[in-house]
Amino acid sequence: MAESVRVLLTEEEVDKRIKELGEAISRDYQGQTVHLVCVLKGGVFFMCELAKRITVPVTMDFMSASSYGSSTKSSGVVKIVKDLDEPLKDRHVLIVEDIVDSGRTLSYLIKMLGDREPASIKLCTLLDKPERRVTDVKVDYTGFEIPDEFVVGYGLDYDQRYRNLPYIGVVEFN
Ligand code: 5GP
Repeated sequence: MAESVRVLLTEEEVDKRIKELGEAISRDYQGQTVHLVCVLKGGVFFMCELAKRITVPVTMDFMSASSYGSSTKSSGVVKIVKDLDEPLKDRHVLIVEDIVDSGRTLSYLIKMLGDREPASIKLCTLLDKPERRVTDVKVDYTGFEIPDEFVVGYGLDYDQRYRNLPYIGVVEFN
């Protein structure tokens, strides 16, 4: 079966929105250092672009959690593949995710990281599919709300491919 990718959000639209998010975060964290926690692998492209747009001091760390295998369906099981290198105590933590879908991954991570006594913990996601929510999650910064379609690009994969697309697209099977 042949695959093609239909553009959902162009590179220009994504870049413009990330700039706006960076400005909002810089305003909200005035006088503080924001500790960005990137959820690998999908969040890495977004986090790099976002970090460049934040004007308050930034530190960063990386973790890897997985609730998906190679299919497009959530397994509902969250596995910590790689934990953070540094403690979160007294830090202003901003979790940076590629997409919130069912919300299972994020609700698990927020609880787990919240137990490490950060000064604050907030969530920033590039994409949100609110229709798909199973577990309630408070999203503090959202790039785009999108319909219930399986998207790729800007860090998001289909079977580990397409992460490097500079735009967000929908995989179509012809
Ligand atoms: P949740 O736990 O919210 O259901 O799922 C979050 C994770 O599922 C995301 O970090 C991402 O890895 C994956 N995911 C959910 N929706 C999509 C999608 O449309 N495309 C891709 N590539 N991954 C998705």
